[in-house]
Amino acid sequence: MGLLDRGVEIKTPEQIDAMRRAGLVVGRTLELLRGSVRAGMTTGELDAIAEDSIRSAGAVPSFLGYHGFTGTICASVNDEVVHGIPGERVLAEGDLVSIDCGAIVDGWHGDAAITVAIGEVSEELTRLMEVTEESMWRGIAAARLGGRVTDISAAIESYVRRRGRYGILEDYTGHGIGSQMHQPPNVPNFGKRGRGPKLVEGLALAVEPMITLGTKETDTLEDEWTVVTTDGSWAAHFEHTFTLTPQGAWVLTALDGGRAKLEELGVPYGGRD
Ligand code: MG
Ligand code: MG
Repeated sequence: MGLLDRGVEIKTPEQIDAMRRAGLVVGRTLELLRGSVRAGMTTGELDAIAEDSIRSAGAVPSFLGYHGFTGTICASVNDEVVHGIPGERVLAEGDLVSIDCGAIVDGWHGDAAITVAIGEVSEELTRLMEVTEESMWRGIAAARLGGRVTDISAAIESYVRRRGRYGILEDYTGHGIGSQMHQPPNVPNFGKRGRGPKLVEGLALAVEPMITLGTKETDTLEDEWTVVTTDGSWAAHFEHTFTLTPQGAWVLTALDGGRAKLEELGVPYGGRD
């Protein structure tokens, strides 16, 4: 089956440049939120900061109204893994909050997430965040033109397994991204390498490991959005949108395009900025 048969959208360099502009809006918004979040704030207040940041950059929040979602961000606290609805919940010292954010520029999407600790958290939770973020980078670093989508999946899983006993969500995955936020192909956070669509120039993927201190099993709350672990274990979630150019990898939602981290991992930087 060819790429088009699978519904994979191949972008022109100009379209990828528009995705970079969307990615920068997302990256800057997440950095603003990282610097703003503190104990005593509600997730709704974080959401208002995000919406203002995105709109004042001339972009459009992509989550707002998505299948009826009421936030600009997803704010998922502690045992909530993803898709938490921002609102009246007050963040407390010791909480872990995943902030997921998306924006549209000229019809092109960016999607990224960070997990932030509120004040001091345990060594175990600090390590959970480090493992999750690093696994995302290892996944991106494993992507090469001519390789396959699950090369990313296998790199994420093997890194997480090397670091300890963690739960890796299987019911939620990364995804293709472009003129829509969610497109084929899925990018699982586990599996064997060498499978799935070929990695080609013009493909853009959101890589987003969701890792827990316990189970990989989840439930959805009655709000029909918030995904929690069935065993109450806490979770972390990081995400970046990236593409491959003939020169290397370009992390569209990272402020530096991923240059520093890719160099650390020995991967050529493929950005056009
Ligand atoms: Mg996201
Ligand atoms: Mg995503």
